Amino acid sequence: MNRPSPQSYWLATAPAFTGGMAGDPHGQVDVAVIGGGFTGLSAALALRAQGASVAVLEAGRVIGEASGRNGGQCNNGTHQDYGALVASLGRDRAQAYYRAHVDAVDTVERLIADQGIDCSFRRCGRLKLAAKPEHYPKIEKAYALLKAEVDPNVELIPPERIRDEVGSSEFHGGLLQTTSAQLHPGRFGIGLAEAAAAKGARIHENAAVTGLNRSPGGGWTVVAGGGSIEAKQVLVATGGAPIQSPFRWFQRRLVAVGSFIIATEPLDAATIDRLFPKRRNYVTSRVIGNFFRLTPDDRLIFGGRARFAISNAKSDVKSGTILIDAMRRMFPDLAQTRVDHVWGGMVDLTADRLPRAGEHDGLFYAMGYSGHGVQMSVHMGQQMARYMGGDLSANPWVDLAWPAIPGHLGKPWFLPAVGMWYKIQDLLH
Ligand SMILES: Cc1cc2nc3c(=O)[nH]c(=O)nc-3n(C[C@H](O)[C@H](O)[C@H](O)COP(=O)(O)OP(=O)(O)OC[C@H]3O[C@@H](n4cnc5c(N)ncnc54)[C@H](O)[C@@H]3O)c2cc1C
Repeated sequence: MNRPSPQSYWLATAPAFTGGMAGDPHGQVDVAVIGGGFTGLSAALALRAQGASVAVLEAGRVIGEASGRNGGQCNNGTHQDYGALVASLGRDRAQAYYRAHVDAVDTVERLIADQGIDCSFRRCGRLKLAAKPEHYPKIEKAYALLKAEVDPNVELIPPERIRDEVGSSEFHGGLLQTTSAQLHPGRFGIGLAEAAAAKGARIHENAAVTGLNRSPGGGWTVVAGGGSIEAKQVLVATGGAPIQSPFRWFQRRLVAVGSFIIATEPLDAATIDRLFPKRRNYVTSRVIGNFFRLTPDDRLIFGGRARFAISNAKSDVKSGTILIDAMRRMFPDLAQTRVDHVWGGMVDLTADRLPRAGEHDGLFYAMGYSGHGVQMSVHMGQQMARYMGGDLSANPWVDLAWPAIPGHLGKPWFLPAVGMWYKIQDLLH
């Protein structure tokens, strides 16, 4: 029996990064960017375009965490239902936040074109699938509101047409956001890193930031790897990765939780025509739902929260077993299909599932994309470069308060209870 690789399929099929700096971080820069995921790399590229000198300090390898481990869905729309956002924040802000996610997909497309990155970007559409018959009326309502207020590019797929979209008996209609896209996050991220390095950003891998001190001149001394660097400004772009860091203020506001993925062997053309004829991004409507899509070489990427736990070698294998069962239940045709990769990563959730970006105590930051970061992290890297240059209008999240999560001191002890609560919600609704 084959043992699936524990490596992210995207990282396994991305080229190696060749633009990294040798030696420990040293000297002076205008901006130190902490974290070499999509946020940090996109910011580095934009900061260089503005003429700033930049060092990216990455604890491991570039895109080694969430940015190289995700589902590669580059979707329009907020994590929260748009109607719920209108109810909690008012129409104007809900529209602005939804549109920020639409803009973010455009940003990804523009960067790919400008930098000539070969990453199979495709506007494939995102189909939200009603996992229970009673979810469809809610989807109908969401569709009407979106179409009327904020996204003309949505379509409703009624239950009788859902089999034209997906070859499973588990679904009861769906909502299609036609301008959502997909890409190969590994090839995209390495392309972004190479572009930033080629434009003069100093990218240091294996350079975990362990200390941050104010310099007498008003900037920062950033201790990283075996060296340190002086920076006028610092951007914290550390996502939800479980790295030891001096960023406790952020850790008390984010919950880092595992999300898990399997990748099958390549499927044959007849199976694809039967199960995924339009090769879209798919998500299910459950609270603890699944997401899936095909890769450019015809594998099925199938993911989900599976368990409320962190991602590590043991946890990824356990979650992979749950995902394999879920995939086979949804698509009995795949009962004999081999699974080649099983992996996981950490998602940075905020309490309200909206991102946060701005400045705290002299440190700039962008994070908390809550599982919608493929487009938003890239967008926020670009926007934060402008924001740090003084254009406050560049930050769509500037007016969102960000209180600490009560009782959360950095380690999410409450995850099992939250997971149980979500499971109950799925049973009840
Ligand atoms: C399994 C999974 C599936 C997902 N699927 C999707 C999807 O389909 N669509 C979508 O929109 N979003 C998805 N996401 C979310 C998306 O991948 C993230 O929101 C996005 O990649 C975040 O990018 P980032 O650069 O902010 O963070 P990251 O990619 O996590 O990068 C942060 C970097 O900071 C580094 N770092 C941390 N601490 C330090 C330190 N002290 N010193 C130096 N470096 C440090 C880390 O090593 C890491 O490389 C998924 C996430 C996961 C885990």
